[in-house]
Amino acid sequence: MKIAVYDAGAGPRIGVVLGDRIVDAGLEGSLVDHMAGWESLAPVLAALDREKGRPLSEVRLCAPVPRPGKIFAIGLNYADHIAESGMGTPERQVWFTKAQTSVNGPFDPVQVPKVSQAVDYEAEMVVVIGRRGKHIAREDAAAHIFGYCVGNDVTERLWQHATPQWSLGKSFDTHAPFGPWVTTADEVDPHALDIRCTVNGEERQSSNTRHLVFDVFDQVAHLSQAMTLEPGDVIFTGTPGGIGAAMSPRLFLKAGDLVRVEIEGLGAIENRFEAEA
Ligand code: ZN
Repeated sequence: MKIAVYDAGAGPRIGVVLGDRIVDAGLEGSLVDHMAGWESLAPVLAALDREKGRPLSEVRLCAPVPRPGKIFAIGLNYADHIAESGMGTPERQVWFTKAQTSVNGPFDPVQVPKVSQAVDYEAEMVVVIGRRGKHIAREDAAAHIFGYCVGNDVTERLWQHATPQWSLGKSFDTHAPFGPWVTTADEVDPHALDIRCTVNGEERQSSNTRHLVFDVFDQVAHLSQAMTLEPGDVIFTGTPGGIGAAMSPRLFLKAGDLVRVEIEGLGAIENRFEAEA
């Protein structure tokens, strides 16, 4: 099932995406509020009538989780990206955080910051946690995942590499767009999906999630050794090769550029870059 948070002018609502239409789920509160009772809710939502919906094109799609409790992102997690970064394959998973305030809608503008303009894209599959857990075994990880989204781990490269810790360069406002909806975990094999990024229609990244160094279940297991994962926590699972910083000469995003990230079975997000006001 594809669950979206959308706004048709009266504030955010939860909806089910059926083809090119969205049907209101009739639920109050946030998507995260409903994850605990999802097993009983899912059959009700699966029975919604497509004809009662409205065209997707008439609504604004929002980030499915507007304020995740945590946003963690893994670095150096596709072999071709590790190679272009000039680094070795890490023995341990490399993690950084993105600020809650970096969350952005799947079709909303992304800022080129005032302070620095080395802005780059990173196409990534995004995991949304659905069930609380600590010390989650790898074989149990799937049961803790609510679903998957398409994301762009937008990065300001100068701030990323100005210090050993990357989080500031990863946390600028608007730099974590994801969506366009959550595809529930029962619908996809997360390790067999084509992933692609284009800038103004030109292909920059093209890979498949089977090439993840640490797969999503490894990631959930590892993170949960340190911290309790909770419903609505969000994980950016790594980007394949092809980033602008690795091009020769380096090519960063500028105001007016349109970046599209698409993942097989999960949909696409598309963000226009604009100068910070
Ligand atoms: Zn990334």
